[in-house]
Amino acid sequence: MDNGREGALAREESRRAALVTGASRGIGRAIACGLAADGFDVALVYAGNAEAAAEVVAECEVAGATARAYRCDVSNADEVKATVNTVLADFGAVWALVNNAGITRDTLLARMKDEDFASVIGVNLTGAFNMTRALTRAFMRQRGGRIVNMSSVVGLMGNAGQANYAASKAGLIGLTKSVARELAGRGVTVNAVAPGFVRTDMTAALPEQVVERYEGQIPLGRLADPDEVAGVVRFLVSDAAAYVTGEVIRVDGGMAM
Ligand code: NAP
Repeated sequence: MDNGREGALAREESRRAALVTGASRGIGRAIACGLAADGFDVALVYAGNAEAAAEVVAECEVAGATARAYRCDVSNADEVKATVNTVLADFGAVWALVNNAGITRDTLLARMKDEDFASVIGVNLTGAFNMTRALTRAFMRQRGGRIVNMSSVVGLMGNAGQANYAASKAGLIGLTKSVARELAGRGVTVNAVAPGFVRTDMTAALPEQVVERYEGQIPLGRLADPDEVAGVVRFLVSDAAAYVTGEVIRVDGGMAM
């Protein structure tokens, strides 16, 4: 963890804070900036891309938010504990946790190495578990809050070449529903968002013919923009979603209906 810390942040007490993992790029960036525009202060967690994270901090600040970036590997429970303690010291409290950090290591099952399976489960599923567990006592004490987990339609449908990724995303749905039941009595809602294909670095590596094939399977006929996924997360974090918990919302252009 290397946060370049300068001590607790001077913040307006009325503002709520959100912790967003994988906030340096793609969907997480859109979520962080969207929440900043909605009046949240934002703690951004990223893996290694300090420059991109600094850009997102600056963008959140332009929107009027207090923001700080934290380098942390979400798959490492000790790093997560230390980061969460630092975030709580900096921001005082966290109202919303968005477990968005994710990776792919795509290959057919027969060729999939132990490391391909373990690393994807480690970041995508264990990472969300690590973060949620580290914040659960704080959520229970504050008797309110929001947790949103970034799943995928692949967790609902499966996908050839993504057994590791699909297992991690299906696992997140079980995690979401179990934690939703555990924390409901404390006023904390826990939901999952399941995007289809979204234009980010994660899908940029796909050859154009593959993208065209996917587009043919999407009733709306196109990939999503990260802001279209962020919009649903912003709703789930808002007061308007206070009675929504244990839900999985697809944002997939109709792909998995
Ligand atoms: P992306 O552009 O590849 O960005 C990934 C983000 O996760 C980056 O901020 C990265 O930080 C961070 N990250 C990676 N490993 C990490 C780790 N071990 N610890 C902490 N942070 C880590 O991804 P994306 O497309 O925006 O995807 C975001 C989420 O949406 C993922 O969970 C993904 O599975 C899910 N999703 C994406 C799609 C899609 O089509 N793109 C569809 C469905 C679901 P650095 O910048 O520091 O590397």
